[in-house]
Order: sequence, then C-alpha cells, then structure tokens
Amino acid sequence: RVKTKWATSLPRYPATNMALQYFDATYSLQLGRLWPSVRCSLLSERKYGALLNNFSDHQAVASDLQEQGCWDFVSPAQLEAPLSPIRPEIEEGPEDVAERSEPKASHGGNQDNSPLSLSSNIRCFVFPRADITRFKSARPDQTRLLGYYLMDAASVLPCLALDVQEGHSVLDLCAAPGGKTLALLQTEAIRFLSVNDSSVARTSRLKNVLHSFVPKHLLSTDRLRVTSFDGTTWSEFERNTYDRVLVDVPCTTDRHSATEEDNNIFSKIRTGERKRLPQLQTDLLLAGIKAACPGGEVVYSTCTLSQLQNQYVVQQALHLARQEGIHLQVVSLQPLVRALGGTFHFAPDLLLGEMVVPHLTANFGPLYMCRLRRLC
Ligand code: SAM
Repeated sequence: RVKTKWATSLPRYPATNMALQYFDATYSLQLGRLWPSVRCSLLSERKYGALLNNFSDHQAVASDLQEQGCWDFVSPAQLEAPLSPIRPEIEEGPEDVAERSEPKASHGGNQDNSPLSLSSNIRCFVFPRADITRFKSARPDQTRLLGYYLMDAASVLPCLALDVQEGHSVLDLCAAPGGKTLALLQTEAIRFLSVNDSSVARTSRLKNVLHSFVPKHLLSTDRLRVTSFDGTTWSEFERNTYDRVLVDVPCTTDRHSATEEDNNIFSKIRTGERKRLPQLQTDLLLAGIKAACPGGEVVYSTCTLSQLQNQYVVQQALHLARQEGIHLQVVSLQPLVRALGGTFHFAPDLLLGEMVVPHLTANFGPLYMCRLRRLC
C-alpha cells in the first residue's frame, strides 16, 4: 500500500505557475487572439508613471521630468489631440484602436454618454511609448515633500473617471497604500475625504505616504478622515452621504500573481481567500453604492483581467442594489478611452466598463474600471 503524502512532502508547485495556468485557461477564451501578447507583456517589466505632487515644488519637478523626455498624459494638449501617435514611426494594428469599438448595450441601467470633464490638476508623467527608461526616486523639496509618486500610470484612470468637482465629499473605501488617494487629493477640489482600508498595517503605510506628499494643514480632521474598517459594513454607520465613492477592491492582482511568489494569492494556502474574492468585491461595491448620495457617482476598479471579478461583480451589485430600491446608471467612459487611446491599450468591445490591457509598447495595467451614477 502506498502511503499518502503529507501536505509538507507534496511537490511544491509555484504559485506563479498556478496563476499562469489559470490565466491561460480563462483569458485565452476571454481575450481571444489578444491573450498571447497580453501574457507576454504581463511577464515583462511593467511601466510606471510619475504622479506629480502639486503640493511640492511642482514646476521645477515637471520641468525636470520633461527634460528627461517624459510628458504628462493628462494635460489638455494631449487630450485635445488624442489620436496623434506619440512616436509617429510606431504603427498600431486595427485591433488596438479602442475608439473604433461600437457603442455599448444597456446593462440594467441607462447608459449615459455625456462628455467627461477631466480634472486638469491631476498630472501624471510617462516616458514615450516603447521607451522603458525607469524613473529615478523622487527627492524631497525644501518643505520635505516628495515631488512625485511612482505608480502604474493606469491606476490614475479610475481617479480621472471619478470626475471630482469643486466642493465634493469623497470616500475611498479600499485606499491603502494610497496611490489613488494621493491622485484624488491632487484635484485640490475635495471638501472632505474619507479614506479607509481594513488592514491596519496598510493604513499605517497610507498615513506615511500622505505625510510624505501632503502639507499638514490639508490633513486636518475637518478635511480628511483615515479609518481601518471592514468596508463591507460601511452602510451600518454611513449611507447616502458622498458625492463620489472609489471602490478599488482587492483582486487577483494579475501582474503580481504571474511574476512574484511572495504574497501570491494563487498559493495553495490562499485558495479559499481567492475563491471568496468575487463575493467580497460585490459586497464592497454594494457598500460603496449605498455610501453614495442619490445623484452621486461610484467608480469600481480592479487590477485584474478577470470577467468574474470585473463585469460580473458590477452586474451582480447592480442587481442587488435594485432589490434594495437603489437604481443606477452606467456612465460611459468612452470619452476617456478616446482621449487616452494614444497612451494606453484598451480592451475592445467590453460590455460593461473599460479595461487597460498590458502591451509591450505601453506596459501599463491591467486596470478595469466602471463608473456608476446613483439615480435614487
Ligand atoms: N486603492 C489603493 C491604491 O491605489 O493604493 C489600492 C487598494 S488594493 C487594490 C485593495 C485594498 O483593499 C487592500 O489594501 C486591502 O487591504 C483592502 N481591503 C481588503 N478587504 C477589505 C475590506 N473588507 N474593507 C476595506 N478594505 C479592504
């Protein structure tokens, strides 16, 4: 009789292999002929963006970045000429041109196609397409504030999609380590910002980030609140409150899962946690929807390509919200996609929301986002 092996003596199968096996099985169906090139990009060095810190000596920092050959992809000049390639010699295949996708179908709410106004205060610098130069670490200025925050440039998009206006109250439900919080603060339009993350350790990292980039007087409790609550229970103490809510949920973080063993959600020990993700994401999105005031807006975002964690979660949350008498409208992000199609590669023909897919010449993402407006 062959003795059954103990778990510890079983052959070790790397979590990154598990992740890639899972991605190959699901994304080859979901993305079709795009998948081999997206896979190759996922496994290659990612590209960063430098979110300019408007609270630092930003003009000097911006000039320095420009001298290094970077440009700000959010600047009005870029947005007015979205179709002009950054490097004219690089041609794109027809499948890359996001603006050719047809208008989308309705999804249980009306689809709003009104133009998107972008906050011109958020500025994010990137090296040109196909240029993989790395940014130097940011240096503190005379007031000890850092000049820029390095992050996946696609992560700025949910903050642009949130369309924060002067005097808004904003909730960032899953905020740590704080890249998007910092981008939201760059709008300098927020009356009150509530920042939350259930992880105490990560919330403390977020506080460090805020102190390295934002002047003390803007972090006073009448302007900013940092909490470490379970976001799924948010409606127990606050409902119908915020003009804008960002729900940037935990997900399978595809790029990390495909390349790093450390803290990999595809490791055997985290199987249960991984399988519970869609439920947790739905609960968090529903909590975010309830926290928004009628007329307010919610942006749901992830850094996975998974339909199960993206479109299906949004559909399920819309359904559950409707059962509680909350009706929502899906707001089209096509104006944003058209404006930024020269910088990012967007997945064509998504039924709900928009998604940046990694590409070797623009290795940002994955990033999924969907913008919802509460009608009542
Ligand atoms: N928005 C962040 C940024 O831009 O830096 C990244 C957020 S990360 C994708 C997801 C976060 O959700 C993690 O920091 C995790 O601790 C937090 N989280 C997980 N479960 C949560 C819950 N039930 N309530 C609130 N936050 C949660």
